[in-house]
Amino acid sequence: MTYKYNPVRIKKLEKTLLVRWNDGREDEITYEKLRDECPCASCKTESASKENYIPIKSPFKAAGFYDINKIIPVGNYAVNITWKDGHDTGIYSWDILRNLGENK
Ligand SMILES: [Zn+2]
Repeated sequence: MTYKYNPVRIKKLEKTLLVRWNDGREDEITYEKLRDECPCASCKTESASKENYIPIKSPFKAAGFYDINKIIPVGNYAVNITWKDGHDTGIYSWDILRNLGENK
């Protein structure tokens, strides 16, 4: 799998992920946005059902919900983000990261 844009650097900052791209662009994506847009199947299902039902949103998130524990490269096309609340099924492809960076 190849993507037009590839990160040349991904760095964890305090509240944001800094992504520098091969075209020179630089994005800071907040952890909150990354987590809210988690592309894994269970999060996708949750957000899909939110569109169909009136969501009962809890203002309380588990500790570490918006905090990154570690970032693991997946092949040369994505990263797997492990959150401090233990959630670790989100695979963020370069396309997804780029979209998140461009749509702030
Ligand atoms: Zn998820």
